[in-house]
Amino acid sequence: MQSYQEMSREELLKEKTALEAAYRKYAKSGLKLDMSRGKPSAEQLDLSMEMMNVLNSNTDLSCEDGTDCRNYGVLDGIQEAKVLLGDMIECHPDNIIIYGNSSLNIMYDTVSRSMTHGVMGNTPWCKLDKVKFLCPVPGYDRHFSITEYFGIEMINVPMLSTGPDMDIVEDLVSKDEAIKAIWCVPKYSNPQGITYSDETVRRFARLKPAARDFRIYWDNAYGVHHLYDIDQDNLVEILAECKRAGNPDMVYKFCSTSKISFPGSGVAAIAASANNLVEIRKQLQIATIGHDKVNQLRHVRFFKDIYGMTEHMRKHADILRPKFEMIIETFERELEGKGAGTWIAPKGGYFIAFEALEGCAKSIVAKAKKAGVTMTPAGAPYPYGKDPTDSTIRIAPTYPTLDDLKIATDIFVICVKLVTIEKVLESKSAS
Ligand code: PMP
Repeated sequence: MQSYQEMSREELLKEKTALEAAYRKYAKSGLKLDMSRGKPSAEQLDLSMEMMNVLNSNTDLSCEDGTDCRNYGVLDGIQEAKVLLGDMIECHPDNIIIYGNSSLNIMYDTVSRSMTHGVMGNTPWCKLDKVKFLCPVPGYDRHFSITEYFGIEMINVPMLSTGPDMDIVEDLVSKDEAIKAIWCVPKYSNPQGITYSDETVRRFARLKPAARDFRIYWDNAYGVHHLYDIDQDNLVEILAECKRAGNPDMVYKFCSTSKISFPGSGVAAIAASANNLVEIRKQLQIATIGHDKVNQLRHVRFFKDIYGMTEHMRKHADILRPKFEMIIETFERELEGKGAGTWIAPKGGYFIAFEALEGCAKSIVAKAKKAGVTMTPAGAPYPYGKDPTDSTIRIAPTYPTLDDLKIATDIFVICVKLVTIEKVLESKSAS
């Protein structure tokens, strides 16, 4: 197949005319499609409806150890929930504190505590002239919103196919005491679907940061969110690896059941070393008398154990796989070899990242919007919303129906082609 760069001006103009006709047809049809946020579809949410039946007014709400879940108490979360979430993220229940309904909220709280009270006896960050976080890019916009909110400077670190560029990470953290943390989505990353390689995780665990209070914010949001039964990515468990490397306190691991049960009504947790947990509990016992144990119990009674959860995730995968595969197949059929951008076919998670030609992302997203397809704003996967090359577009295939997604993908591809052709024509007339 000939790329747009190889095509003559005449050929490009002809293709452009045909694409514009197709675009106009879609634009006139008054579509309203949303590929912007990583939300499960209603069909996925239906998978967890039985959870509403596991507890009722006749149910015994006592835990295995006799704790009455209807009452105050148990700051860390009920033991059976710790076991379930521990199995989910491959950590011992003793290393876990169960929080409320949102892992993002735990991350916010963790940054907030470090700001006001410092990390394990070190100077509170608010008393320092400068605090910096490393931000692998593209990344999760809400991570960057937290750091921006606290006035923390964000430094971009490029993502490679193996995870963040560890040469850069090692170099920066070893030199600069103001760098206090790095945001990581290590499995099926948001938005590229990349899983960090074994070597990347091992290098993380062996970092030698200049800051004694440096922490890895390991957001394992998509740990069990595989699309395939056999062809799955594996991630080395970071807590054990840090311990092995003599850095047991260097990591906070976050997780939730948001995209397993109900987003916003799931169960979230942090896993960390015993030393870190002692410090976290000191704050937690002031902040709350305990989180929602009834919801914890509901989750445990519904999933029963990790095998139940794995079975449940297979049902999610059956719904999601056709959506991801349709998009990747469309890209391969329509865009492969055209020189219009690149993408990675993820094996799990919630997103596909499309890398357009430099300077094209904003125009593609704007064009799609005019034809009725809402995408995540270009730039969102970067700190301060600024994509230095204006090239990354995050695609969220999960929420729309497959039929709607097909139309949205067709429109997206037309927009990619049109904007790329315009760019190539521009550069041809400039040269
Ligand atoms: N981390 C990542 C990487 C996410 O993509 C999301 C959801 N979009 C969250 C955290 C939010 O999780 P929660 O609902 O547990 O706050």
